[in-house]
Amino acid sequence: MNKWRIPVAEPTLTGREAEYVVDAIINENRISSSGKYLDQFEKYGRDYFQREFALSCSNGTVALELALRALKIGPGDEVIVPTFTFAATAATVLHVGATPVFIDSNQNDWNLDCSKLEAAYTSKTKAIIAVDIYGLPCDYEVIESWCKEKGIYLIEDAAESHGAEYKGRRVGSFGDISCFSFYGNKIITTGEGGMCLTNNPEWHEAMRVLKNHGMPTPGVYEYEMAGYNYRLTNLQAAVGCAQFERIEEFLKIRREHEALYRSLLSSAPVTFPAFDSNVSRSACWFVSILLSEESKNLALHLAEKGIETRPFFTPMHAQKPYAHLSVGQEFPVAMSIARHGISLPSSPNLKDSEIEFICLEIQNYLKDKKS
Ligand SMILES: *Cc1c(COP(=O)(O)O)cnc(C)c1O
Repeated sequence: MNKWRIPVAEPTLTGREAEYVVDAIINENRISSSGKYLDQFEKYGRDYFQREFALSCSNGTVALELALRALKIGPGDEVIVPTFTFAATAATVLHVGATPVFIDSNQNDWNLDCSKLEAAYTSKTKAIIAVDIYGLPCDYEVIESWCKEKGIYLIEDAAESHGAEYKGRRVGSFGDISCFSFYGNKIITTGEGGMCLTNNPEWHEAMRVLKNHGMPTPGVYEYEMAGYNYRLTNLQAAVGCAQFERIEEFLKIRREHEALYRSLLSSAPVTFPAFDSNVSRSACWFVSILLSEESKNLALHLAEKGIETRPFFTPMHAQKPYAHLSVGQEFPVAMSIARHGISLPSSPNLKDSEIEFICLEIQNYLKDKKS
């Protein structure tokens, strides 16, 4: 059991997850890296995100690494990455030997600031990794055309935004390669898991071989390169298939919850990410707000009431492994968002009454501050 009265994130595993896992064990007798659930999971990926190829892998981090390696990005290359993101977006660039070049956020939706792209570009820039922070899509029209103009790759890190839409298109359909995570707190989960989507058969093939020891034909022990074991299991895919069956239901509940938070906090001095609802539909991964003060004390107040929250990402440029890469540069928007932001409980398992309780406690805290 969770120690929190209201956890910040929780998977919803009340569909056919258990049935499929048992079927994979009892009837199919396939628990490793082949089986009908893996095939079905990848088919769901292709169909849902409208891509030619889908490759499952062990998590979202290696999905990004596979994408970078398939695109032959390595030493001497630069990759533009938002500084306000989860560690994996930047770490994988270092893992392949390339250099992350950080870019600040915009104040409206907290995603990478497209007006800063030109300044981040050099003759070494090979790709950009776009991240849909907390489920809200980046400005893909601008990013896509800028990538085309420069002749660089667009990699989508859509780990937080399964089902989000930009101008009627799902995220995951924009990148040269698009990467997903299915960690336990994501929109749909396999426990640990990831996926790479592309329309390019060569990149798909490169990732497929890299993911399985550099071995083009499983069972024929000949290797094209020193590969990896980045495979997902049929058991994890069994959970993933049951999750895919309910993705629209999860998104609907998440969006309703976000709308409820927005309406209950409409008169409170808090800021939600701003976006044009004619352009974007969020996947509402984490309902997140900015305060006018630092968010730490609100987190403590809510914790006392049994409400778990999540601090915002600390920007990458300010962290130990990356600080040397951007000496002297400033990323004021990302730094400010990180200090003032807080993510609120966002699981589809929440009851409306729990959201009401959370919003009441936020308002109580902010009122006490004023008086
Ligand atoms: C969760 C996440 C990842 C990586 O996911 P794992 O499956 O945990 O490796 C990558 N990027 C972002 C933005 C994420 O939120």
